[in-house]
Amino acid sequence: MNKPDVSQIMERNAELAGEIVRLKRRRGAIILAHNYQRGEVQDLADFVGDSLELSQNASKTDAEVIVFCGVHFMAETASILCPDKKVLLPDINADCPMANMITAESLIAKKREVPDAAVVCYINSSADVKAESDVCCTSANAVKVIESLETDKVLFVPDQYLGHYISTKVDKEMILWPGFCPTHVKIQAENIIDKKVEHPGAKVIVHPECRPEVIALADEVLSTGGMCRFARQTDAKVIIVGTEVGIIHRLSKENPDKKFIAASQKAVCPNMKKITLEKVLWALQDMAPEVRVTEDIRVRARRAVDKMLEIGRVDPKIASLS
Ligand code: SF4
Repeated sequence: MNKPDVSQIMERNAELAGEIVRLKRRRGAIILAHNYQRGEVQDLADFVGDSLELSQNASKTDAEVIVFCGVHFMAETASILCPDKKVLLPDINADCPMANMITAESLIAKKREVPDAAVVCYINSSADVKAESDVCCTSANAVKVIESLETDKVLFVPDQYLGHYISTKVDKEMILWPGFCPTHVKIQAENIIDKKVEHPGAKVIVHPECRPEVIALADEVLSTGGMCRFARQTDAKVIIVGTEVGIIHRLSKENPDKKFIAASQKAVCPNMKKITLEKVLWALQDMAPEVRVTEDIRVRARRAVDKMLEIGRVDPKIASLS
């Protein structure tokens, strides 16, 4: 059997998109997509953004159904914020390996070792872990959230690299959980150095989940939402981007006069790519798979998320962490 060519794929995607939009209206659904989703999924979404923007949108929407094109912890966060809505995750196996590097049980054990530390969990964590934390944060608001805490000692989970980056920005003792994002650690310092040689004068923006030696080479350290704002505002015409490659789709679409270069083509999150147009359609047809957080966990996790939403508003200028 011959492989379908690009025009056939585009035709099929347009058909699927049409069916999804019709069914979405009938179901009273909204489609939210993370910046790392496949281009055709981003193009279909009602809103594309980073974890913070998506959670804020989930909390504000009037839609009865949220189709979450992202990974499991993001759909859980939507369920935490919107218990009366049905939250669908088109592929229930779209999970975050970094979020799975910590469990509620292991966190409880660590808390016993450092009872005087405030527990701050990155939003990339399960609802169970959020329920055991004092406050949540995203990469866009982490510094602001931690600076706002009264305690001088912080147990930060689960991303050691984001935690390390924050520790260079705040005057607090930071105890770091040894988790990491398997996608962002694939971006190496040599990748940035090589790309800078190939594109002299280019600006380098990287995500704080990257290794410290990569961050040290960056002009700006930004959440994905911050990267989108930076791209619109900068005069630079060539930008080297150190994060998951899916964001290049949005950056290029919104800034056609600028060139965006992935720091490494290896930085692909296989879990983010599990969501396809077919699976979005099937989710709307079957109204499944649903992600729902149990009430006792939801109430405790919500406290940590609400505290973040209260104190961690993104700097409207640029959400720059550097
Ligand atoms: S890019 Fe990294 S942190 Fe984000 S979902 Fe994938 S594995 Fe998790």
